[in-house]
Amino acid sequence: MNDAGRLAAQRLTADEIARNFSDIHPPLDRKRALVEASRCYFCYDAPCTQACPTGIDIPGFIRKITTDNVKGAATTILGENIMGGACARVCPVEILCESACVRQTQESKPIQIGALQRYATDWLFDHKVQPFTRAAATGKRVAVVGAGPAGLACAHRLARHGHDVTIFEARPKAGGLNEYGIAAYKMTNDFAQTEAAFILGIGGIRIEFGKALGRDVRLADLRRDFDAMFLGLGLAGANALALEGEDMAGVMDAVAYIERLRQTADKSALEIGRRVVVIGGGNTAIDIAVQAKRLGAQDVTIVYRRGPQHMTATGYEQELAQTNGVAIKYWARPIRLVGQGGRVREVEFEYTQLDEQGRLMSTNDRFTLLADMAFKAIGQTFVAAPLEIGAAEPLELAGSRIAVNADRQTSLPNVWAGGDCVPGDDLTVSAVQDGKVAAEAINRALRSA
Ligand SMILES: Cc1cc2nc3c(=O)[nH]c(=O)nc-3n(C[C@H](O)[C@H](O)[C@H](O)COP(=O)(O)OP(=O)(O)OC[C@H]3O[C@@H](n4cnc5c(N)ncnc54)[C@H](O)[C@@H]3O)c2cc1C
Ligand code: SF4
Repeated sequence: MNDAGRLAAQRLTADEIARNFSDIHPPLDRKRALVEASRCYFCYDAPCTQACPTGIDIPGFIRKITTDNVKGAATTILGENIMGGACARVCPVEILCESACVRQTQESKPIQIGALQRYATDWLFDHKVQPFTRAAATGKRVAVVGAGPAGLACAHRLARHGHDVTIFEARPKAGGLNEYGIAAYKMTNDFAQTEAAFILGIGGIRIEFGKALGRDVRLADLRRDFDAMFLGLGLAGANALALEGEDMAGVMDAVAYIERLRQTADKSALEIGRRVVVIGGGNTAIDIAVQAKRLGAQDVTIVYRRGPQHMTATGYEQELAQTNGVAIKYWARPIRLVGQGGRVREVEFEYTQLDEQGRLMSTNDRFTLLADMAFKAIGQTFVAAPLEIGAAEPLELAGSRIAVNADRQTSLPNVWAGGDCVPGDDLTVSAVQDGKVAAEAINRALRSA
């Protein structure tokens, strides 16, 4: 049997796959939402609001839910975070708002803030309510590059202020990683497109799809043709293992595979191995491992070079992997990918340990895992090349990302940036906050010009 046939033999039926990729957190109904909302103490100076990167007035929206003012609750949420619908689905609440909830401190059972946020925002989308209107047109034009969470949040806030926005987006759809990267069971029913359509519904925002900075448009030209610009480019590169055998069939970049998984109409037609090895320790490693399992892989093992406490994947995500039957091996790093006939067959690892200075050490103690697929999930990188093409003045970088100040302004006077392409947390909610903060700063700059 050829490789494709052997890998195909592991697939589940289309119905089983549909079940496996249904909503991981089914939404609250009205009764459960009211019960949950009634648990809120409505704290003054609420710690949950301080822990939310977009500063949503959480007690304020929860109080509105208790009085059945669901539209008001949704408007409170979206006023601070226009992607409150996506964030309700994807925020790692266990390290953000819910970790700060007083009920968490007292009873280890926080109010389900994310679920209540979803209850309110889903109502607004279901009822097709558009709570925002544009201010009088200012005649100012702003270019936004990238239609991900950062770019869309920036564009929406600028449109509210009456500016005209043109978004240049390399891909054919809006939403960035909400559309192409987030695990499929977190973002079901084409929600990324529903949300993007809602954001564009305010008016004054035009998207030019298939237009990439550095290929179809140049930084210098956009700076000349627009009054201001915002860069929400995300991270276009992926780290390599730099190991022999990395180019063999079956060795894949996790983010690229997830993109295929998110875009395919028939997940049962996707190739998935019987034995899958995932290399990495972040949420992408968890996402690819759980999705591989749900696609029908039999043995899925994540191998991470340090301990559980060092993983950037949260405790909740690590538990999610384990409850989905994914094994996690800590303290080991890959040293070789071994293949047969051009396809990966096993991955050789070496155990690691820390020396007295806390540096990661090799041990020479080795083991191998059989693998007909190996996913690399060892981080993404910012690709600066599109900024450099045709640029007379270089943009300053901080480390390997675009340097910005507190207003998200770059080293160039009329250019702002935010989201994953600037230093900070790589989270949807942080990207939205960057877009919002930058839009406010751009608005101030345009009005004082
Ligand atoms: C696999 C995976 C799972 C994740 N899961 C979660 C999660 O569960 N929860 C969470 O909070 N965060 C998660 N994240 C992180 C989150 O998705 C990002 O932090 C967020 O999407 C960043 O938004 P952004 O707008 O900066 O970038 P992106 O979402 O990457 O959007 C950037 C946009 O710019 C476009 N673009 C790039 N280059 C160009 C160019 N040269 N010209 C024009 N357009 C360009 C891209 O096509 C894209 O549409 C995950 C990330 C990954 C990779
Ligand atoms: S946006 Fe995220 S962090 Fe903020 S309140 Fe909502 S779920 Fe919590």
